[in-house]
Amino acid sequence: EAAPVRRALISVSDKTGLTDLAAALAARGVEILSTGGSAGALRQAGIAVRDVAEVTGFPEVMDGRVKTLHPNVHGGLLAARSNDEHRAAMAAHGIPEIDLLVVNLYPFEDTLAGGADAATIVENIDIGGPAMIRAAAKNHNDVTVIVDPQDYEGLLAELEAQDGATSRAFRERMALTAFSRTAAYDAAVSGWMAGAFAQGQPRRRAFAGTLRQGLRYGENPHQSAAFYADGSARPGVATATQLQGKELSYNNINDTDAAYELVAEFGGEGPGDRPACVIVKHANPCGVALGDTPREAWSRAFDCDRTSAFGGIVALNRPLDGETAEEIARIFTEVVIAPGADEEARRILSAKKNVRLLVTDGLPDPRAGGPAWRQVSGGMLVQDRDTGFVARDALKLATKAAPTEAQLDDLMFAWTVAKHVKSNAIVYARDGQTVGIGAGQMSRLDSAMIAAAKAGRMAEALGLSESPVKGAAVASDAFFPFADGLLEAVEAGATCVIQPGGSMRDDEVIAAADAHGIAMVLTGMRHFRH
Ligand code: 5GP
Repeated sequence: EAAPVRRALISVSDKTGLTDLAAALAARGVEILSTGGSAGALRQAGIAVRDVAEVTGFPEVMDGRVKTLHPNVHGGLLAARSNDEHRAAMAAHGIPEIDLLVVNLYPFEDTLAGGADAATIVENIDIGGPAMIRAAAKNHNDVTVIVDPQDYEGLLAELEAQDGATSRAFRERMALTAFSRTAAYDAAVSGWMAGAFAQGQPRRRAFAGTLRQGLRYGENPHQSAAFYADGSARPGVATATQLQGKELSYNNINDTDAAYELVAEFGGEGPGDRPACVIVKHANPCGVALGDTPREAWSRAFDCDRTSAFGGIVALNRPLDGETAEEIARIFTEVVIAPGADEEARRILSAKKNVRLLVTDGLPDPRAGGPAWRQVSGGMLVQDRDTGFVARDALKLATKAAPTEAQLDDLMFAWTVAKHVKSNAIVYARDGQTVGIGAGQMSRLDSAMIAAAKAGRMAEALGLSESPVKGAAVASDAFFPFADGLLEAVEAGATCVIQPGGSMRDDEVIAAADAHGIAMVLTGMRHFRH
């Protein structure tokens, strides 16, 4: 529904574009209320304004700390226009409707960046501005809020298009921008206070998170750290219950997350709902396997790389049972996480006091969207979580040879694992078991070679007569830029391939596969993970 704009309140620290906006509003017959400095600037430009002090019947006091904090202002912003009681209150108290709020805040961030003293920084914490912004944004049903001079043009275009009103969609968008602004503003204030008042101590809340626990240290002992929950209640490491063991470390949490997110792929509608086990070291899986039971899944995962599994993080997609706990307890394990643990499993692990046992209600949902963010110097990167999924029947056959059903099982399995391996990722798998994982190399060829070498070590450790890569499926998280990576995999013994495709040299890569009678399917989607 369109909401007409008849009265605006303008209170801005950054006066960019102020007079142009106000002149355009005045030309539309919009009455303008304004605070001290803003009103002064407008009068100087010859634009008629009413002082907010006239509306409040109260002067601006305390160096401007109290200007707009008054029921006549907040009532005008918050009144629901369709609510008779609200209308009656406005009438009874002489509260004017404010249909449009244009505010930008005291420049807290710039003051901080300018290296000001603490008193100046504190004086630049805007109180009345955020209060009005939040009021108007809450009441977006009736009120339009603008917090950024970059939106002035869009506002005027909207008023033009809507005949002096704004559409619901526009008000909703601006309300979102408004709350994002106040959230970022408060994050800047709390970030400054954390450094100034509580250096190195965990804060109870950070950004949108609530302190879960302070950590002894970060990735390294000289870094302080803390662990926050984002309140999403998503099953995962941040909402898990720790049943026993030492305090989780920063690296434990990071690795447990990697393990649990991967094992959850083998859940309900994933690439096969069978018991699965993932063992992670340094945020990469060193063994992933399916089994008829969790115990079998664990021992098959362990067999992929027994050396690396030492001191690893174990994640299961089924509740931990006694026989699996017994197997896991045979080697030194840092963390076990599962959607539950039965009595016997708890009893068995309780003999291993250091093992941290975490349980959750259900598994993480690998298809659940949401933001994933990472800090860079001076900013941050935000992207959607990688929820990309290619169904088995959406794979495109690129070669003359087609994979058998069993090979397709392994291709889907290897592809799922590759999604969770740091790039460049090459994963060899056979019969629902990884047999060689090459992670995090700067060249895909190196990853292929490392994965094959690890498979060779596995054959040795298990006393196998030949490399388990013989007859295996291989997955590559991104396309093969040249045929060499593929040829390396073929030489190691792989007989079918899954990869995104899309390289300039796809023809060469496909020809190489055909020349060796290899079956290759393309996903059309890559899974970089850096
Ligand atoms: P002006 O330059 O118009 O005097 O002041 C504009 C600034 O005052 C805006 O940044 C606005 O957010 C802020 N502001 C408006 N009302 C109040 C208030 O009641 N208290 C405080 N501290 N700031 C306010």
